[in-house]
Amino acid sequence: MTTIAIAGFGKIARDQHLPALRENRNFELTAIASRNATLEGVDNHPDLESLLAAVPALDAVALCTPPQVRYTQAVATIEAGKHVLLEKPPGVSLSEVEDLIRRAEQKGVTLFATWHAREAAGVEKAREWLSTRRVTAVDIQWREDVRQWHPGQQWVWEPGGLGVFDPGINALSIVTRILPEAFFLREATLEVPENCQSPIGATLEFTDVNDTPIHADFDWRQTGPQTWQITVETEDGKLVLDSGGSQLSIDGERIIDGEDIEYAGLYQRFAELIRAGRSDVDVAPFRHVADAFLLGRRQSVEPFIE
Ligand code: NAP
Repeated sequence: MTTIAIAGFGKIARDQHLPALRENRNFELTAIASRNATLEGVDNHPDLESLLAAVPALDAVALCTPPQVRYTQAVATIEAGKHVLLEKPPGVSLSEVEDLIRRAEQKGVTLFATWHAREAAGVEKAREWLSTRRVTAVDIQWREDVRQWHPGQQWVWEPGGLGVFDPGINALSIVTRILPEAFFLREATLEVPENCQSPIGATLEFTDVNDTPIHADFDWRQTGPQTWQITVETEDGKLVLDSGGSQLSIDGERIIDGEDIEYAGLYQRFAELIRAGRSDVDVAPFRHVADAFLLGRRQSVEPFIE
C-alpha cells in the first residue's frame, strides 16, 4: 500500500483524484496540503513544506496545484524522497521538466507526468488502428466554455497558465499518442484577450514528414454543446475520436463508447511505475505548446470578463 498526499485541493483534486484514489486499493490518501481547503479524515497542512516535514512516512504526492508552482513543489517532494505524480501540464517550461527528470533519477523515486486524456477509452484502440495506416489529414476541434470549466481561476490567464492550451494540451496529448509519425508546428495564431497574458483561442497548422496537414482549432468561447473531437483521414478509412477520446468511430461506425476511466487509469499506471521503480515523463504534448508560444502570431481580442 502506497501512502499518498494531494497538494492543491482544488477542482481537479476533488472531482477526479479523490474518487480515483478511493477506488484504488494500491493507495491510501493520508494527507492534504492546501492553503484554504481541508479534507475530513486526513492530515491537513497549509503548504507542502509543512506536510513533508510532518508526515515522514508518506510515500508519494500528487501535485494538483496550478503549473506555476509545480517545479518548486516537485523538487521539494523529490528531495524528501517521495514519488511524484504531476498533473498536466508538467510545469511552465521544458527546462524545469528536464531538471525534474534528472532529480528523480538521482534520488531513485518515480516521476509520473500524467496526460489524463490519453487514458480515455478510445485512445489505445485508435493508436492500434492507425499504426498500420497512412494518414492523409487530421482535424482537431477542441472548443469549450472557459466559464464553465475554470470558474474564477485567474492562474489560467497568467504567464505559464497556458490559456486555451490548458484544455488544448489534452488534444495534443492524444494526437502525439495515436499518430504514427512525429509532426511539427508550421504556423499558429494565438488570440489573446487585451486584459490577459495567455490566449483564449488558437489556430495551429502542423505537418509531418509526409507533409500531412494537421489542423487544430482551440477555443474557450464555446457556449452550448462542447466539442472535443479529433478526425483522422487515412488512405483506407476515417477515424473519429469524440467526447475527449471516450468515443471512437471508424468509417461512421461507433466502435467504443466508453465511460470516464481516465483518472482510474492514471493511478493504475502510477502504482505500476512505483512497483517497477520507473518514471514516465513524455514532454511531447508540452513541446508543441512551447512551439506555439514560440512561433504563434499574437492577435489582440476583446477583454475577458468572467
Ligand atoms: P484549481 O481549482 O485552481 O485548484 C488548484 C488548487 O491549488 C487551488 O484550489 C489552490 O488551493 C491551490 N493553489 C492555487 N494557487 C496556488 C499557489 N500559488 N501555491 C500553492 N497552491 C496554490 O485548479 P484545477 O482546475 O484543479 O487545476 C489544477 C491543475 O490540474 C492544472 O494544472 C490543470 O491544468 C489540471 N487539470 C484541471 C482540470 C479541470 O477540469 N479543472 C482537468 C485536468 C487537469 P488552496 O487555495 O487551498 O491552496
